[in-house]
Amino acid sequence: MSITLTKEKITATVKIITEYGGTGIFKCVQCGACSAVCPSIKAGFPVLCRLLIKKLLIGQLEEIIEEPSSWACQACCRCSEVCPQGVKPQEVVFAFRRFQANELAISTASTTSLIDLHATGHAAHTTTYRELRAGVGLPEQPPTTVSDAKGLQEVQTILENCLMGELGFY
Ligand code: SF4
Ligand code: SF4
Repeated sequence: MSITLTKEKITATVKIITEYGGTGIFKCVQCGACSAVCPSIKAGFPVLCRLLIKKLLIGQLEEIIEEPSSWACQACCRCSEVCPQGVKPQEVVFAFRRFQANELAISTASTTSLIDLHATGHAAHTTTYRELRAGVGLPEQPPTTVSDAKGLQEVQTILENCLMGELGFY
């Protein structure tokens, strides 16, 4: 009986993530090639790539709903490039993130970067990036929309008019 329930939970979990755009979850063989190249895992956000897919494959969804790792994904797509099974872990991560956003389970790190994105045109997951950049001899701000008033206004207009704008972060 417990096996049947687990199977149902796994099927329901994968169905939800698939509906949010994450495909190929059942093709994953847990080889870990994706995790080995993920810069965000190296930066200390473990529940991405192989581990995120593992948790989905054992039917954990609500259990990890407040997990902040997904918000640290840089969308570099290295994981998708190396997967021998043709899974696209980056799409699974984004699908999980959409699920979280729909449930308003948005991490503090994400709201911080959203506020920064609105203020500067680029998003950072740390409030100390200016000091970190200055510490290695770089200008405190990267060369992004922050130095283009018209472009920054366009970014702010987009952010204020999308669904995230309704949440009142900025
Ligand atoms: S796309 Fe995201 S999950 Fe994939 S390797 Fe890049 S940072 Fe990691
Ligand atoms: S590389 Fe592909 S098969 Fe290997 S763990 Fe990642 S998603 Fe699964």
